[in-house]
Amino acid sequence: MSALKDLIAQAVDRLADDLEGLSHRIHDNPELGYQETKAAAWLTEFLGSRGFKVERGIAGVETAFRATLETGAGPTIAIMCEYDALPGIGHACGHNVIAAAGAGAGAALAAVRDRLPNGRIQVIGTPAEEGGGGKVRLLRGGAFQGVDAAMMIHGWDQWVLHQDLLGIVRVGLEFKGKAAHAAADPWEGVNALDAVIQTFNNVSMLRQQVRPDARIHGIITHGGAAPNIIPEFAAATFYVRAARLDYLGDLRTRVVACAEGAAAATGCTLTVTDHDTPYDPMKRNDTLLDVFRSNMARLGVAESPEVKDRLGSSDVGNVSQVLPTIQPYIRIAPDATPIHSRAFEAAAVGALARDGLLKAAKTMAMTTLDLLAEPGLVRKAQEEFRGSR
Ligand SMILES: [Zn+2]
Ligand SMILES: [Zn+2]
Repeated sequence: MSALKDLIAQAVDRLADDLEGLSHRIHDNPELGYQETKAAAWLTEFLGSRGFKVERGIAGVETAFRATLETGAGPTIAIMCEYDALPGIGHACGHNVIAAAGAGAGAALAAVRDRLPNGRIQVIGTPAEEGGGGKVRLLRGGAFQGVDAAMMIHGWDQWVLHQDLLGIVRVGLEFKGKAAHAAADPWEGVNALDAVIQTFNNVSMLRQQVRPDARIHGIITHGGAAPNIIPEFAAATFYVRAARLDYLGDLRTRVVACAEGAAAATGCTLTVTDHDTPYDPMKRNDTLLDVFRSNMARLGVAESPEVKDRLGSSDVGNVSQVLPTIQPYIRIAPDATPIHSRAFEAAAVGALARDGLLKAAKTMAMTTLDLLAEPGLVRKAQEEFRGSR
């Protein structure tokens, strides 16, 4: 096993310039979610040329892909690639590095395919992480069916094995009242704006009683047409975030109850609309994290402690609620560089990004190898997954 891992590391080193080139090309051609046609084409071309069987446009998502390498009956391990950019600031989340590291891990495994244990490796291209919910659509479309364990990495300013991610639901609240002249016959009106304002007041009170990692934040999207008309329609959108799926569901119910109370108090009718791609919290899997950790240590990478107060959301959380999944963080930027910043965008093509990309590709390939070689580990990861549900 150790000798095979050395061969994997050597394969990544041989491909280093190609992988960095791929990363830079994606970085320098930023494409927004569901429009990543160039990135998807480059990645599938690269994986196809390494012997992967490539399927483009899977699960009805045009810029998604699946590249499969099969060596016989055994576990199916997925390595996920993201490659969407942010509006205005390009690859300030470093998804170019995620993409190249995933492709590099696949290519390194393909380089030793004759010596691989039986199983199936799938590099899955997952578009539109930045709000579009690509993985949610892929999950619904069955793209992860048959996958036993999944992994991806994300760029950061340190190496951290696991970070909690907040689940997020986006709730639209629409109130319908009755228009009337606001001075001549206000008693004839039913004030939909009052219902919105009362909802905000109710939510403000609710916020005192929520867990510290929960977040509830909203805006008014419609507040009426003119001051001399009692608003017959008003609307708000709230984001509700929490670190646990059951608590997230509870909180959503309580926010909706705030709106229902406001509707009852004002005499309005309420329509609740849920955004169609909610992001789930990240469910950790220590079995997979331990395998990843041991391969990191093999490369001499020092792990930083988990950070408790910088909480984001990602659709990888949804994958982690369906099958054992990890998303370790890779140092690709100088200390204290915030993600989604111009500094992070610049760092995503710097020397640290090259180093992180190559180490991440090696670690993911070695972790995949361990899981193929020892199906008992995959079973253990699945038992842990079921136990902590
Ligand atoms: Zn991001
Ligand atoms: Zn990101």
